Amino acid sequence: MKRTNDGGARRIVVISTGGTIASRWQGTGYAADASGDDVLATAPLPEGVTVEVVDLFNVNSSLMTAAHQLALLRTVHETLADPGVDGIVITHGTDTLEETAFFLDLHHTDARPVVLTGAQRPFGTGDGDGPGNLYDALQVASSVSDLGVLVVFDGRVHAARGTVKTQTLAADAFSDPSADRLGRVGFSRVDIERQPERPAPLPLPAAADKADPG
Ligand code: ASP
Repeated sequence: MKRTNDGGARRIVVISTGGTIASRWQGTGYAADASGDDVLATAPLPEGVTVEVVDLFNVNSSLMTAAHQLALLRTVHETLADPGVDGIVITHGTDTLEETAFFLDLHHTDARPVVLTGAQRPFGTGDGDGPGNLYDALQVASSVSDLGVLVVFDGRVHAARGTVKTQTLAADAFSDPSADRLGRVGFSRVDIERQPERPAPLPLPAAADKADPG
């Protein structure tokens, strides 16, 4: 699905991977099963943004393997090979979001942002935090550059490096115990307060490492 708000001059690709933001009750527990289009449909779009969705996988992130992460890394780089794309948002479970963000950041050479987000509360619940987090992530992905891979959650913008999940249930799930957050997002504004420290990026892993996550 492609959605546009107000002419949509900024083109953002949402890569959907599952997690609580896509999880519905299955009778005995929650599991990721909502499509990327369904997840996107829960959120309003920031003004001037067009979104396209890639359904890459639909897993709870405790099941995210190195093969999934390699496939995601390649999808990010293939997506950014299109100069018409302005940024990427990845929806992801919170359990291993920090590992995926750090991994992607190690190989991120592009000025355009890659923003990971998710939710503490499941898809389709009245008090869910997924729609707001997704809106904020789209806002950040369409307005910043040269910050590497980011985590956007509960109105906060975090650098991939150093950020960990620090809350099991609370909405402000992520923080960096050794540094301030990078910035904040809210009221349709993004305020970046500091630059992240980023070492020289690593080359992409060799194609032989490409594994099918199944
Ligand atoms: N178990 C979920 C996951 O990581 C938790 C979450 O998304 O918040 O996929």
